Amino acid sequence: MRQTVHVDLGERAYDVRIGPGLIAECGTHIAPLLARPRVAVLTDETVGALHLEALRAGLARADIAMEALALPPGESTKGWSEFTRATGWLLDQKIERRDIVIAFGGGVIGDLGGFAAAVLRRGVRFVQIPTSLLAQVDSSVGGKTGINAPQGKNLIGAFHQPSLVLADTDVLGTLSARDFLAGYGEVVKYGLLGDAGFFEWLETNGPALAAGDMEARVRAVTRSVEMKARIVERDETEEGERALLNLGHTFCHALEAATGYGARLLHGEGVAIGCALAFELSARLGLCSQEAPSRVRAHLKSMGMKTDLGDIEGDLPDASTLIALMGQDKKVVDGKLRFILARDIGDAFVATDVPTDAVEAVLRDALTR
Ligand code: NAD
Repeated sequence: MRQTVHVDLGERAYDVRIGPGLIAECGTHIAPLLARPRVAVLTDETVGALHLEALRAGLARADIAMEALALPPGESTKGWSEFTRATGWLLDQKIERRDIVIAFGGGVIGDLGGFAAAVLRRGVRFVQIPTSLLAQVDSSVGGKTGINAPQGKNLIGAFHQPSLVLADTDVLGTLSARDFLAGYGEVVKYGLLGDAGFFEWLETNGPALAAGDMEARVRAVTRSVEMKARIVERDETEEGERALLNLGHTFCHALEAATGYGARLLHGEGVAIGCALAFELSARLGLCSQEAPSRVRAHLKSMGMKTDLGDIEGDLPDASTLIALMGQDKKVVDGKLRFILARDIGDAFVATDVPTDAVEAVLRDALTR
């Protein structure tokens, strides 16, 4: 059940290894990267309590010593204050240019740890050991690292590719159902943006995957990583095609901003709702059939996921305020909103000049549903 996806980026190429049992043997995978048998691990308190000793044991099997810092779990960790703490700790650990930092956690730790590695001593290498489904299928691959600023999400950061990604699918077993399904939102996104056959496979196999079927989990993570890797290879720094990975994200970022980037709406939940809205917008603009958005929403609903704005607890601002929140998103180019729209399931494209009134109409309808 072990799979490897190679991300072919020349000097910055690396493997993503996927499957159960990888943490137990992580020392074997990491040892070839080390100049000395010692690593510094950044994690969060939840992941640390559940899995840090297994990581320590996996490293010890290859005689690698580790020091670890556990930060508080949650999106609010991805800011200057915990970032300063993490980089200070890495310096205290005397991490040098040839050492390796390990980011062991979900997307929050991966993004923060990767950015810390990018700037520490002008850049040290790092290994991603993603533990959430979202991090395994998306954030650990592709080299986008960073933290949030008071002005918005992910506004401070750097491209810094990991040297290796170990996605141990066993650890997904301790994720809460809510966090698992949030990650599943990103899995569905890959089918929707570029592989109708994968989306169809998810329609059939999604429930087994959510229930813990390991083979289905490995297949879903592998296909998602393959799709991300191929896009990143063609457009590492998001000059063009990589923007397809933002399907659903313009809506998502507005909703995250409106809900305060917290427990009301997890990132992957926002992506799922955003994908459904992006297909509705595409249908309204006559780009895809009316059936496509219905099929997207039907699958999300059948998985028990948030699908509509009404599924978000509490009040939301009106449509024009949500559009204003989109305007603060960094994906704005020359004042025009950029959307990822679709001609069909599995056929997304970048649209740079989407009429605001169509977006507003979709949001107005969605707010009253
Ligand atoms: P997260 O890191 O906050 O993890 C979600 C929750 O799951 C946390 O409470 C965490 O402690 C817990 N958790 C993680 N692994 C666990 C496990 N195995 N068992 C039990 N609990 C576990 O969030 P996330 O959903 O993983 O990632 C979201 C972040 O990723 C956002 O900040 C988003 O901006 C970022 N992101 C980055 C990229 C990128 O390309 N860099 C792409 C997508 C998302």
